Amino acid sequence: MKKPNMLDAKKRHQNKINYTKYNEVTEKFGEGKKFFVRTYGCQMNEHDSEKIRGMLLSAGFVPCDDIVDADIIILNTCAIRENAHDKVFGFLGVLKHMKQSKKDLIVGITGCMSQEEVVVNEILNKYKQVDFVIGTHNLDNLLSVLKEKMDTNKRQIEVLSYEGDVVENIPVLRESKYSAWVDIIYGCDKFCTYCIVPYTRGTQRSRRHEDIVSEVEELVKNGYKEVTLLGQNVNAYGKDLYSDYTLANLLKDVADTGIERLRFVTSHPWDFTSEMVDVIAANKNIMPYIHLPLQSGSNKILKLMNRRYTKEEYLKLYKEIRDKVENSSITTDIIVGFPGETEEDFLDTLDVVNKCKFDGAFTFAFSPRENTPAARMTDAIDEDVKMDRLHRLNEVVNKYSNEANSKMLGTIVKCLVTSLSDKDKSKVCGYTENMKLVNIKGDASLIGKIVDVKITDTKSFSLDGEYVESK
Ligand code: SAM
Ligand code: SF4
Repeated sequence: MKKPNMLDAKKRHQNKINYTKYNEVTEKFGEGKKFFVRTYGCQMNEHDSEKIRGMLLSAGFVPCDDIVDADIIILNTCAIRENAHDKVFGFLGVLKHMKQSKKDLIVGITGCMSQEEVVVNEILNKYKQVDFVIGTHNLDNLLSVLKEKMDTNKRQIEVLSYEGDVVENIPVLRESKYSAWVDIIYGCDKFCTYCIVPYTRGTQRSRRHEDIVSEVEELVKNGYKEVTLLGQNVNAYGKDLYSDYTLANLLKDVADTGIERLRFVTSHPWDFTSEMVDVIAANKNIMPYIHLPLQSGSNKILKLMNRRYTKEEYLKLYKEIRDKVENSSITTDIIVGFPGETEEDFLDTLDVVNKCKFDGAFTFAFSPRENTPAARMTDAIDEDVKMDRLHRLNEVVNKYSNEANSKMLGTIVKCLVTSLSDKDKSKVCGYTENMKLVNIKGDASLIGKIVDVKITDTKSFSLDGEYVESK
């Protein structure tokens, strides 16, 4: 049994990162068995779930749409806020009942929660329905851990507290045939004081640029229209690996593969250089959409958060992007109720929101995470004050996203149509270049194409439109 240790997870080992290839499993020990993967959290977790599905498929397991048909259920978890934990522990209650009526059912936990010492101890003591736990650093061992569980019927806990290798060629079962996620950097060394990611995902490790470019070339060959480069902080790409090859170089090289749409997420304002802005502005296939987390507009709070930029520096970068990148959309993340946040600090945040008029924002109430410095800060904010600020912030944020969307009314925009609309099966949905979701009057034959769409109505979180035949 290998359990996590949060103190070890904090250390940054100077050892060189190993670049290895996935150890293919040839035995089809999953034949006749079905699996179901449930994902919590960010795009990186969504993409890890695609790897989990790919590995399971390679051993003969097959996916199922209904969880009740599954022989293996994997919860790929998120630890970013307490409510992410609560959802997983709540669902483990449901799985306990399922296991009572299906004795052979195997339940596994992967993702960020498995890297938390307190979670693994709780699972060991209270959640007997969990058959295996694998950490984020050795996800590529999934099949051997699962096979060991199936062969011995013993519980498996395999979590490393130090950063793993960069493993290439892990099988992937992608959710979409048109839009793909591609990892470029794992882990994070920023240590924002509220954030658990540097502990659960380990040190910053960039993939080699040749491996990234050849993965994208393969996707282009297979008909993919869009690629999103992924990392907790993509702007730090290359810092651990090269002296002079940065995200700007990578964006240019990936854009040159001919992929029709290139996106990237998430950007830390601290590492965002003018050179990067110039590359985005100069390449028409790099989409004019940037997610630029602000977190707070108060310099005092930004310092306590260890964000390494000031309100003024953020505003300067914001203006540079807006000035140089045509038709850009910028969204953000904001936390309210960080320890010590006064009404004046909160008004500073509202001031930045009023100046930037973001296209959209993900807003959060501060949630203390175990072992992070912010969880030890003393001047916590009352829950009702946090909720009041969140409510006031959301009103302003929604006003501006409504305004940004309204400006698109009547325009004709390019949309990549990705699927049938969830709400109305007589419609399809897709994304504009600046990442607005559009419900489109049109049939399923449009799926997978980039088409012209006339915007007919706008709301806070989505647009309505109709397909226009290109002349
Ligand atoms: N790496 C990205 C960055 O630097 O902004 C985002 C990481 S995190 C998955 C997404 C968002 O969750 C963060 O931008 C932050 O706003 C929020 N978040 C992280 N830790 C939090 C906490 N302890 N409480 C509330 N929100 C948190
Ligand atoms: Fe967390 Fe900060 Fe790293 Fe983003 S940059 S993952 S918020 S520590």
